[in-house]
Amino acid sequence: MTNTNDNIDAINVLVVGSGGREHALCWALRKSTRVGKLYCAPGNGGIANVAHRVNLGAGDTDEILLMCRDLKIDFVVVGPEAPLVEGMVDRLDAAGIASFGPSAAAAQLEGSKAFTKELCDRYNIPTAAYGRFDNATDAKSYVNQKGAPIVVKADGLAAGKGVTIAKTIDVALIAIDKIFDGQFGDAGNEVVIEEFLEGEEASFFVLADGENVLELETAQDHKAVGDGDTGPNTGGMGAYSPAPVMNTPMRARVMEEIIKPTVNGMAKDGAPYKGVLYAGLMITDAGPKLIEYNVRFGDPECQVLMARLDCDLLPLLMASHDGTLDKVTAEWKSDVALTVVMASKGYPGPYEKDTLIRNIDAADKVDQVTVFHAGTALEGGKFRASGGRVLNVTALGRTVADAQARAYEAVDQINWPSGFCRRDIGWRAIERENAESA
Ligand code: AMP
Repeated sequence: MTNTNDNIDAINVLVVGSGGREHALCWALRKSTRVGKLYCAPGNGGIANVAHRVNLGAGDTDEILLMCRDLKIDFVVVGPEAPLVEGMVDRLDAAGIASFGPSAAAAQLEGSKAFTKELCDRYNIPTAAYGRFDNATDAKSYVNQKGAPIVVKADGLAAGKGVTIAKTIDVALIAIDKIFDGQFGDAGNEVVIEEFLEGEEASFFVLADGENVLELETAQDHKAVGDGDTGPNTGGMGAYSPAPVMNTPMRARVMEEIIKPTVNGMAKDGAPYKGVLYAGLMITDAGPKLIEYNVRFGDPECQVLMARLDCDLLPLLMASHDGTLDKVTAEWKSDVALTVVMASKGYPGPYEKDTLIRNIDAADKVDQVTVFHAGTALEGGKFRASGGRVLNVTALGRTVADAQARAYEAVDQINWPSGFCRRDIGWRAIERENAESA
């Protein structure tokens, strides 16, 4: 690997967040020879193995700033979207503390769907045709005029729950009422209504430093709670990397048609984009189209990316902050990585908390497997579930089928009667592998 930071002294790093994504980031950063002390605020039960936990939440910006001084933190990695949209990076900048992530102005790429749609209009970035409305009457007449299927979205951050894929006009009209009835708070002050796109979805990750772009890797996730991609949507029940649909020509097309115009456009508009840019794409018959941007690593996609990363993560994140991404390269294992999310029974609806989980160690010992923790608490040496999505059992393999077999071998070591997982993560890619080898 080449990088600009060969001579830096060990530096102290703080990761902000508490999910499987943050465990994976801490795990990758812990392997860096350049990281001195590693902290995570607030972290979770499993993160304690790789980083010192600090009892502050992602919303406690004032306290985090003070703590950075006390603990001599040199670099902060902000994991989740909410503190980015609320301006944590701007506050850190003002305090002279280097960090990884976009400013509040640039985080609008995730914070407002209407913002991103208008950027796409200005810079000719392919995306679904749309209308945006601040009242139900106009939104409904647009739906009546366009017909179904159609997609209704709350404008702001709604933790992945503000999107309705309406197969009928009636469902779309009800979704519009729900948004304007205040179900999503301020996120529902406006609605974006989109053409329904058909094709295969994929996620593409890049780092940007305001000007330069470094391609990372691709992934595909499973949002639905049930096998065969059925049932309600969740934060993600599993993922794998790479996404087979994102072959080399498609990646080049996405870079030219979507990513570069976005990063150049943001710079031109006075909100240069720094951090990881995660493009949610639909690969349609007419080519790639942008569904949405996220301004952070995906969760659970980060887990599979970190499992495949074959170089030091820290210099890449620092180059994004320093504006030197043109001077670094990223190396990746050619293996496939696949992660299975184990969740509390009942999720994404109500679920029991504080249930005992045994034998995580045995799962971790399976060859090529790492168990990342999301909603766990460590009490008296025992792990308990403290959230909906709880563990991310992540495996490497030569093929998706290999990685899947290893991941489920490890899942089956875990003794957690109150938990469940999907049994078919990666099924589409495995069908494709089987078809190609037939
Ligand atoms: P978003 O929060 O915008 O990513 O939407 C959540 C999910 O809804 C996406 O991952 C897609 O599966 C689906 N989706 C969003 N917009 C569209 C669209 N215009 N056409 C088809 N599916 C969509």
